[in-house]
Amino acid sequence: MKQSTLIMKFGGTSVGSIEAIRQVIGIASSAVKEWREVVIVSSAFAGVTSALLASAVDAARGVDTTLNETWQMLIRRHREAVDQLVQDSQRRSAAWLEINALIEEFVNLGHAILVLGEATPRALDAVAALGERLAVRVLAAALTDAGIPAAAVDATQLIITNDHYQAAVPDMSLSVLQTRQMLGPLFAGQILPVVTGFIGATADGVTTTLGRGGSDYSAALLGVALEAGEVWIWTDVDGVMTADPRLARDARTITSLSYREVAELAYFGAKVLHPKTIRPVIEADIQLRVLNTFNPSHPGTCLTADHEALPGEGIIKAVTAIRGVQLVTLEGRGMLGVPGVAARIFSTVANTGATVPLITEASSEQSITFAVPMEYTRQVLKVLEHEMRQEIMDRNIDRVWATEEVVIVTAVCPGMRQRLGVAGKMFGAMAEAQVNVLAIAHGSSEVSISIVVSVADMEATVAALHHLTQPLNGDD
Ligand code: ADP
Ligand code: ASP
Ligand code: MG
Repeated sequence: MKQSTLIMKFGGTSVGSIEAIRQVIGIASSAVKEWREVVIVSSAFAGVTSALLASAVDAARGVDTTLNETWQMLIRRHREAVDQLVQDSQRRSAAWLEINALIEEFVNLGHAILVLGEATPRALDAVAALGERLAVRVLAAALTDAGIPAAAVDATQLIITNDHYQAAVPDMSLSVLQTRQMLGPLFAGQILPVVTGFIGATADGVTTTLGRGGSDYSAALLGVALEAGEVWIWTDVDGVMTADPRLARDARTITSLSYREVAELAYFGAKVLHPKTIRPVIEADIQLRVLNTFNPSHPGTCLTADHEALPGEGIIKAVTAIRGVQLVTLEGRGMLGVPGVAARIFSTVANTGATVPLITEASSEQSITFAVPMEYTRQVLKVLEHEMRQEIMDRNIDRVWATEEVVIVTAVCPGMRQRLGVAGKMFGAMAEAQVNVLAIAHGSSEVSISIVVSVADMEATVAALHHLTQPLNGDD
């Protein structure tokens, strides 16, 4: 028996069906035998968070059909899960009562939004949080019914955040205190806490969320709060792979990956791990693994401290792609003569709320090019034209413009600094695949290179770079 705490987070697909929840119960029953304390963190059932948010957004526009459909879907899926997974009739009725109360909360919130014609970020968080709040109740009842005494816990009681709704920032010291205080009695009573991922609350008790995909981050935070030995992220693929298996069918599991590498992957779109998950676990020296709920005997991926490239590794360790961005360029002969111009550009863009995933180096000295999420492009162009109106009048800036939608394909290359010619090999591969490279950029932590290509070239680019993840034959 391990004398420490294990945090296990199950993603949406891992609790998305009756069969999946049965797998979770099996995994939990082994874990409670092996670890002194176990905490389960659960996402909402697959697809639920998106449906909840779509209902709220549509309600704000005066459309109530999504609300009604989601209402029916929530009842059907959660009731069915309780019916199939909870045999004890008293326990089943108790679970139904709790689920009905939460679904009623959804209907009330939905109607309030419909009447007001507005969904504030605060209201959206209250709605989105319901997915996890429902899931943990089903899971706790099912685990208890299977002989593993468990209790549903809303992380609103554990994770205390600021009021930056939809991307709230946790206050670690308050959260550590709360978590220990709330979960301690459960551990003492041999009860397995099943905690909602994704959500928290302000010090005043108003529900917040940590951002989409944030349940991984919740698991990391609880790991730190409880000084856990390990945090295991259970998902629907065999760990972190050389590419999204949905994009590259020959993607392979990466057995071990450094924190920096996985941070780069997560930042550049590998949805398998939320980007904020990594930092708290490295800082607390906690072992992090990514495992497959549907193939639990597979060793998955183990995250490690930084290491140098191993002999026999490919030049590139993994490839990711982010869609839904556009390149914005400011160009003009006099531009770089204007003092502080870059600083002004980026602070103006930051004021729109747009994150800039990439700034290119490929641009000529007479222009600056960077990527922004598509939904921000119009606003970014507008504010830049306004901010730079004097330079535009003086003809120091000739043009501010945006491309069509493009894709950022990122190659994570651990040994980039030691191995000469990584970029050369990448561009050779691009040329062979007849891909037109629109821009390039180095990752901030020097373990990645990003290439911007058109949407039409995405698959060819991923395939060409993914080929370079194959182990080398000693010719490097
Ligand atoms: P969960 O609901 O378990 O949090 P997510 O959908 O958030 O699952 O993340 C898992 C998905 O991430 C996989 O199904 C896969 O399609 C996608 N993915 C993207 N890039 C990678 C990668 N490099 N390795 C593994 N999975 C990836
Ligand atoms: N349920 C949330 C989402 O879909 C959080 C998560 O799954 O990590 O974004
Ligand atoms: Mg996820």
